[in-house]
Amino acid sequence: MAFKAEYIWIDGTEPTHLLRSKTKVVPNGTTDFPIWGFDGSSTNQAPGANSDCVLRPVYSCKDPIRGADNMLVMCEVLLPDMTPHPTNTRAACAEVAEKFAAEEPWFGIEQEYTLFESDGKQPLGFPEGGFPGPQGPYYCGVGADLIFGREVSETHATACIEAGIEIAGTNAEVMPGQWEFQVGPVGALEVSDQLWVSRWLLHRIAEEYSVVVSIDPKPVSGDWNGAGAHTNYSTKAMRESYQPIINACEALSKNVQEHIRNYGAGNEKRLTGLHETQRIDEFNYGVSDRGASVRIPWQVEVDQKGYLEDRRPASNMDPYLVTRLIIQTTCG
Ligand code: ADP
Ligand code: MN
Ligand code: MN
Ligand code: MN
Repeated sequence: MAFKAEYIWIDGTEPTHLLRSKTKVVPNGTTDFPIWGFDGSSTNQAPGANSDCVLRPVYSCKDPIRGADNMLVMCEVLLPDMTPHPTNTRAACAEVAEKFAAEEPWFGIEQEYTLFESDGKQPLGFPEGGFPGPQGPYYCGVGADLIFGREVSETHATACIEAGIEIAGTNAEVMPGQWEFQVGPVGALEVSDQLWVSRWLLHRIAEEYSVVVSIDPKPVSGDWNGAGAHTNYSTKAMRESYQPIINACEALSKNVQEHIRNYGAGNEKRLTGLHETQRIDEFNYGVSDRGASVRIPWQVEVDQKGYLEDRRPASNMDPYLVTRLIIQTTCG
């Protein structure tokens, strides 16, 4: 007998890469998933005349959609000579994670997203051709007049638990139809592999409900919160005392532009200084400050140890880029 392994990878679409996947039937008992290939000319990853790209499995988990023995297999993309493809941001993340392994960096990422009707235009909970009541009652709300798409969030969280993904929680967000889940805290590669697979599961589950997931950082313009991917970060030293947290904030303040360039496309529409954000062209950090670029949670100041929250990454950010940069800037 055999089972299905769903090979998942990140494509070359700009400015925000899309997830792709295809199914490989493998013999029962397979745990060492083989290398596979795909047509890179159909994913913006190769010219038609030289189209082969390589999929190398890097992380696998149970497939909660198909159940039974079926598996999900996250892959990195290689060129035919087995070097990393230009779109492969994981390889550099793996190098940095290994280099600074002694610091024991942990990440917890808050993934915000917005659900749309199947047309991809009408946000869930928005009346046709108009707007719902202003923000206020939706965040962590309850009731059919305030909450739209809870079945997607619920089904997704259960699926992540069944897969063995380190999902930490979920909540309804500030705009109707907007939700969040968190993954972590775990290491840079673990959080990134798992966040990509959990994003794939989210799109896949939303399919079943004929709704569309957007990770656009400003899915509705105007007086509506954008969508971010707050990145919570600590090293062993930060988990033991306070001064290393301040040192990390200071290091981040000295490398602002490189971080912003790699924190997601369209983030300038979200980081305006309004809606619980700092402006994209300013940097500050502060305790409890949700208008800061980097927040030190209130409890962390009380305990004099813990972690920091980089609030700048957009919902469409690539966690391989973001976690690598945070480690490099604060440990390098
Ligand atoms: P908030 O919405 O108040 O900003 P959340 O509860 O949504 O916060 O997310 C905080 C995340 O911080 C948790 O999901 C967890 O993954 C992460 N976290 C907790 N402790 C640490 C730590 N020591 N290092 C890194 N991340 C952490
Ligand atoms: Mn949160
Ligand atoms: Mn949030
Ligand atoms: Mn947050």
